Amino acid sequence: ATPTAIMVGTGQGARAGMLVKNAEALELAEKIRVLAVDKTGTLTEGTPAVSDVVPSEGWSREQLLAIAAALEQTSGHPIAAAIVAEARAQAIAVAAAEGTVAVAGKGVSGRVDGRSVVLGTPDFLQEHGVDLPLAACENLAAAGKTLVAVAVNGQFAGLIGVADRVRADSAAAVARLKARGLRVVMLTGDHAATAAAIAAQTGIDDWRAGVMPGEKAAVVKSLSRDGVRVGMAGDGINDAPALAAADVSFAIGVGADVAMEAADITLVRNSLHGVADAIDLSRATLSKIR
Ligand code: ADP
Ligand code: MG
Repeated sequence: ATPTAIMVGTGQGARAGMLVKNAEALELAEKIRVLAVDKTGTLTEGTPAVSDVVPSEGWSREQLLAIAAALEQTSGHPIAAAIVAEARAQAIAVAAAEGTVAVAGKGVSGRVDGRSVVLGTPDFLQEHGVDLPLAACENLAAAGKTLVAVAVNGQFAGLIGVADRVRADSAAAVARLKARGLRVVMLTGDHAATAAAIAAQTGIDDWRAGVMPGEKAAVVKSLSRDGVRVGMAGDGINDAPALAAADVSFAIGVGADVAMEAADITLVRNSLHGVADAIDLSRATLSKIR
């Protein structure tokens, strides 16, 4: 590859909102056959909002939100921000929590007003020995919502549904990528039913759910077996190691510094179309070289 062609390509990319950090990425992009994409913040907008509050018997909606917000105000997760914002919007008084422990990809535990509270994925609560109404969980998740199950003193207290809008152009971008012969695989730490719903809405037929943040890089590596070139698109929240594990990585959205550091190509436009644009630019650049 001539350095001049690559320089020209890099300049064209920059004008079109693709910031290419290393020249090799621009050469490799057209060779990608599998693209792993993070769900939250990549296929979706990444700014979830509370959509459902379903208290269990003995609890009011306000009490359930108050106790969940108490724990979540100590977590930096976008889901936590949604729950705290909802409590605020409803002018619900939120107590301070003590001894909170956030477990990446699972949820948070701690104490509120002397009671022990655990919230997060159904699996996380089950690990804490909590009995859950699994059918109710499946119903919310099947609508594409992320579930936050809440337990107080070991007893199930209710479910909070958090919805994150799918980006308006995600489905079109996935179709464009598939048309270029790529296999698109969604990775998420979310519930399988939530993953299935978002995959269906975006035309993705291959997805891995319940992937813990620490496992995403290994999944990306496993997709690149037999010398297949793998791309990874993510927003950098929990997925910086997965971005680093890919042959070519793309940072999308929110301008997260972690993503910009970890990714080969930063897409200024918050859209998966940027990946297809980069692949097209890679082809055009290399055809000039050949
Ligand atoms: P994703 O893979 O979609 O980016 P994460 O790996 O950050 O998501 O988290 C996976 C799942 O763990 C979330 O979908 C959510 O169910 C649960 N979770 C993680 N952190 C929290 C939290 N602070 N509050 C509630 N649920 C959480
Ligand atoms: Mg994420």
